[in-house]
Amino acid sequence: MDKQQQSQKNQLYTTHHGDPYLKPPSSGSALCPQCGAVYQQGRWAWQDSPPAEAQSLACPACQRIADGEPAGTLQLSGDFLDEHRDEILNLIHNTEAAEKAQHALERLLKVSEEQGSVQVTTTGVHLANRIGHALSAAYKGRIEYSYSEDERHVGIHWHRD
Ligand SMILES: [Zn+2]
Repeated sequence: MDKQQQSQKNQLYTTHHGDPYLKPPSSGSALCPQCGAVYQQGRWAWQDSPPAEAQSLACPACQRIADGEPAGTLQLSGDFLDEHRDEILNLIHNTEAAEKAQHALERLLKVSEEQGSVQVTTTGVHLANRIGHALSAAYKGRIEYSYSEDERHVGIHWHRD
């Protein structure tokens, strides 16, 4: 996306109240064609039988994934990370599975691994926080949380030597 598109997009988003990704569908219920999440009674959730009248609409998590627009970003670093990488990645994926089962919009967006660091992005602030707490609880280390002014994005740095 170039700068002009980005600024048009930002302008578009500022015209909505609240989180642009939580803009409700125009009719009462919706079904996400990508992941099967159902919007009903004001929230997105997993549901075995979507209502027959549900309109087809990408859910906020799938929109964020398509846009590459995370709500949470975790940066992991330190020697401990390289020594325990598989174990730590398992913890992250298990935390996602538990969170996503209860909250349809809380998912991993991307996990990028580099020498000496791992970056994890999420579709929800809550999942990023939960991963941060899981890392602290399991491995201690140093952790810092920083929220954007509107509190719709959290950046988390975790480090252990
Ligand atoms: Zn979806």
